[in-house]
Amino acid sequence: MAALGSRFYLTADGGGRVETVTHPETGERVWSCSSCEAQGRGESEGRAHAAGCSTRSGSLPLDHFN
Ligand SMILES: [Zn+2]
Repeated sequence: MAALGSRFYLTADGGGRVETVTHPETGERVWSCSSCEAQGRGESEGRAHAAGCSTRSGSLPLDHFN
């Protein structure tokens, strides 16, 4: 009955997402970011990371650095 309940949060620039899942052994909430590969623990921490993560994966040229 207790689903793992994975959940996704889009990163700030929409270029990636943070997935939060409940660890099957520890029951702890863990997250990982597809945009910058950061990992951590806690639903709120993962959501906060998503809100602050704006790492782009090279889809746009960095024109402002001249
Ligand atoms: Zn990230």
